[in-house]
Amino acid sequence: MDHEGGIIVRKLKLVKVGRPELVSCMMHDGTQMRDYQCPECQHGIIEEYKNCPYCGTELDWKNKDERSKEFERVLNILSKYE
Ligand SMILES: [Zn+2]
Repeated sequence: MDHEGGIIVRKLKLVKVGRPELVSCMMHDGTQMRDYQCPECQHGIIEEYKNCPYCGTELDWKNKDERSKEFERVLNILSKYE
């Protein structure tokens, strides 16, 4: 029985997965504007991005709402002092 001499070359993609960091949050005409940045290269990113366009890091938005809630809570506390 002959063996196949070919080597299966698997294209391994080394992609880092990172959690986007919420860097700022502000109210603008009743709309909340959120700024995120890539955890790897610190470039500004938006929620539509699945991967960072600058360094290719996969963006994990799963905990984004949780984080935003915490952010809103802090904002509410801060607004009481205004
Ligand atoms: Zn990046």
